[in-house]
Amino acid sequence: MEKKYNYLIVGAGFAGATFARKAAEHGQKVLVIDRRDHIGGNAYDCYNNEDVLIHQYGPHIFHTNHQKVWNFLSEHTAWHYYQHRVVTSVDGQEVPMPINVKTINMLYGTSYTAENIHEFYKERKKDIPEIKTSEDVIVSQIGEELYEKFFKNYTKKQWGVYPSELDKLVTSRVPIRYNFDDRYFTDKYQAMPKNGYTALFKNILDHDNIEVLLSTAYNKVKDTKAFEKLIYCGPMDEFFECKYGKLPYRSLQFEFETIYAEKYQDAPVVNYPNDYDFTRITEYKYLTGQKSEVTTISREYSKADGDPYYPVPNNDTATLVAKYQEEINKLQNVYFLGRLAEYKYYNMDNVILRALDLFESLQNQS
Ligand SMILES: Cc1cc2nc3c(=O)[nH]c(=O)nc-3n(C[C@H](O)[C@H](O)[C@H](O)COP(=O)(O)OP(=O)(O)OC[C@H]3O[C@@H](n4cnc5c(N)ncnc54)[C@H](O)[C@@H]3O)c2cc1C
Repeated sequence: MEKKYNYLIVGAGFAGATFARKAAEHGQKVLVIDRRDHIGGNAYDCYNNEDVLIHQYGPHIFHTNHQKVWNFLSEHTAWHYYQHRVVTSVDGQEVPMPINVKTINMLYGTSYTAENIHEFYKERKKDIPEIKTSEDVIVSQIGEELYEKFFKNYTKKQWGVYPSELDKLVTSRVPIRYNFDDRYFTDKYQAMPKNGYTALFKNILDHDNIEVLLSTAYNKVKDTKAFEKLIYCGPMDEFFECKYGKLPYRSLQFEFETIYAEKYQDAPVVNYPNDYDFTRITEYKYLTGQKSEVTTISREYSKADGDPYYPVPNNDTATLVAKYQEEINKLQNVYFLGRLAEYKYYNMDNVILRALDLFESLQNQS
């Protein structure tokens, strides 16, 4: 007789793997499937032909303020403590990003301090009565000149449209600093899994109650496997065969190159808002702490079609999501979890927290 699982989990990324582990630890039999031929979702990493550890779907830096998330991951990995730094190439200089006092002083040859930098912004920022777009968010804080240098063309490359056509949410994620803190993130915990993400996923999924089937799409198993509850981490629209229409995503393409030198650039990530067609170059050894005589970089190009990466937040997509959400609410024993299933730009820690919380709430119901 066919084995019956308590849970079928579609997707072996952070959402699915976290939920699977918690369920397994509570005695539940779990089947995790993924249509890709590897675990880890978009956080997947691997060693390339030159033995450099790379992130196949773009640079992933772990950071969180959630104690619960940090504790959960720490059960499955040791850490390489790493605080991420990014520079932006503007006017022939590489200056720290997010914009902070040092960025301003480097660009303008000034010597502002954290005490008087607000004078600089005050002179430049524009009064905008109602903040609606991503352009408004930036111009109202730092004025048009810096907006043009750092944000206008970068956003156009990244999203295919100018910030004036994008929801305010998109650039609200990028802070402007009134001090000298040039770290990209300020969370309490910032670190990379010591042996990489894929090794971390292997540990999370290594439990007697968990089975993993790769290269297996949901459609292939939904009628052949017996399960009580479904945790679905795939695209929201795809579950309903896109009956109300397709939800749009921005996609990315990565061009990897290995250089036979110890180092390629002076920072882990260099953003190129105004030059070239790519948005940024990442040098992976900075992130992973790996020592090697060679180094691998990726140039990142943004595009409209391809693998789904970034949800596109605007009024049209919100309406479509609301329609699909109504359908989701009608389902029983089916739970949509993660960035694709909820059509939300979640960081890794948000997704892990959502998975831990969903598991707890289902436990409390039973
Ligand atoms: C370029 C880029 C950089 C990022 N950098 C960071 C960062 O630095 N820090 C950070 O915290 N977050 C970062 N993120 C966000 C991070 O990638 C996500 O938070 C995380 O991957 C979400 O996990 P998930 O499990 O929801 O989705 P995913 O990782 O996408 O996993 C979903 C899995 O489901 C599988 N799947 C989908 N549909 C089906 C189906 N029908 N059948 C079977 N399997 C299916 C997919 O193959 C996939 O493996 C970044 C995202 C991008 C795009």
